[in-house]
Amino acid sequence: AKSQGKGRHVVYDDRMDQRTAEQSRVAADLRSALDTDQLHLLYQPIVCLPGGELFGVEALVRWTHPDRGPVGPGAFIPAAERTGLIVPLGAWILEEACRQAARWQEELGDAAPRTVTVNVSARQLREAGFAGEVDAVLRRTGLAPGLLTVEVTETAVFDGGTALDELKAIAALGVKIALDDFGTGHSSLGLLRTCPADILKVDKSFVDDVTEGGEQAVIVAALLTIADGMRLRAVAEGVETAEQAAELHRLGYRYAQGYLFGRPMAPDAINLYRPAHDAE
Ligand code: C2E
Ligand code: CA
Ligand code: CA
Ligand code: CA
Repeated sequence: AKSQGKGRHVVYDDRMDQRTAEQSRVAADLRSALDTDQLHLLYQPIVCLPGGELFGVEALVRWTHPDRGPVGPGAFIPAAERTGLIVPLGAWILEEACRQAARWQEELGDAAPRTVTVNVSARQLREAGFAGEVDAVLRRTGLAPGLLTVEVTETAVFDGGTALDELKAIAALGVKIALDDFGTGHSSLGLLRTCPADILKVDKSFVDDVTEGGEQAVIVAALLTIADGMRLRAVAEGVETAEQAAELHRLGYRYAQGYLFGRPMAPDAINLYRPAHDAE
């Protein structure tokens, strides 16, 4: 039994090595991707319920690898975080999204997305001077701070250290703060007391079963009560069916995001976005 245990341990170590090797390969490829235009951003509509009018967008990064084709963010963001490459990568994403947001202001005026949301990882938030960089990007691109939303996970803020201070400095610029995947991390409710937040993104896992009633619906309703009480906008994530949208609207949700309304799309497709769906 002892040797078996030892054997398993060796297998485990091998796997760890493989994963580390894979991650450093991804990181090396990603470094050159940054310099050679292999990365681009797509934008997913955040809409109003029940009509589906465009409210804002969330920027989601895509990587077209020269040999491997499209690589999903799930396959490279973790590697980028572990190697610290997320810092230059995130800086590129932030600037690109702000540039696009400023372009929409010019092209669409009042019809432009009212907020452009950028995902910011724990590692970026821990970087001293990140808020200063956000400020510099806003100045360079000419985007009004109130049109940018920085989206962070609860776990990123709880990372400790200076993350919370950095977030407060970003909020002080007039940039909106969204808490991503809300309800899936730890101590969410405590965080709401200390963390500056304007938007609460209710995780897809809660939205998935909202039409089945019962406990899932109770959680979705309770999260909205908290958001309303604290004057936060609640956005229901991962809405895929008309039934879910109708139920969310019935519960009082006014904002949603999901494949029902639109998949992540190229910036030009946002210019053409029209509500195709009505939750009533
Ligand atoms: P997230 O921030 O929670 O983003 C939402 C993810 O759910 C996106 O996947 C989006 O395409 C997907 N999604 C949206 N609506 C639906 C739906 O109705 N059904 C289903 N099944 N999925 C839906 P994506 O683009 O693959 O991104 C995955 C994760 O990678 C993101 O989760 C985020 O954590 C990370 N990520 C993506 N772009 C960036 C980025 O620019 N920076 C950072 N730091 N992380 C990013
Ligand atoms: Ca997000
Ligand atoms: Ca999310
Ligand atoms: Ca997620």
